[in-house]
Amino acid sequence: MAKPKNTPRAAPLLTFAVRDIKEQGGLTHTGTVPVDSLAAEGTFGEAKPKGPASVDLEFSVGGNSILMQGRVDCDWQLPCNRCLGPVDAAFGEDIEETYPITQETIDLTDDLREALAISIPQRVLCREECAGLCAKCGANKNLGPCRCDAPAAKP
Ligand SMILES: [Zn+2]
Ligand SMILES: [Zn+2]
Repeated sequence: MAKPKNTPRAAPLLTFAVRDIKEQGGLTHTGTVPVDSLAAEGTFGEAKPKGPASVDLEFSVGGNSILMQGRVDCDWQLPCNRCLGPVDAAFGEDIEETYPITQETIDLTDDLREALAISIPQRVLCREECAGLCAKCGANKNLGPCRCDAPAAKP
């Protein structure tokens, strides 16, 4: 994906004023959020963000609450479950939350962090047929057979 040439917002916007949302009868926000601003290093386990997360959010006013619906996506690099080799993958998660209309601001830091954490699968493979590591010697079997595959005693 190519980056847009002019970024609409330089600073990450994670806090929204409820008054603005009410006055405008809703609000949409599309932008990027540095993952570091959401969580301390290590929050996402061994998955490392390759760039900022992109968010696409829509707030709507309904009765005594504000409904936020949207999606967060991010590109990650994480180790293959079998061979530990690096895997590049994009994960995303839909989010939907309601907030009381009485609060002054809506801070999305926690919601976005949780959605990103949920989006990362427990098990990631570099490829479906990844041969993994040898249980005996730890060699990467994707690179070919290791010594353990050879007959035990050669003449
Ligand atoms: Zn692998
Ligand atoms: Zn081996």
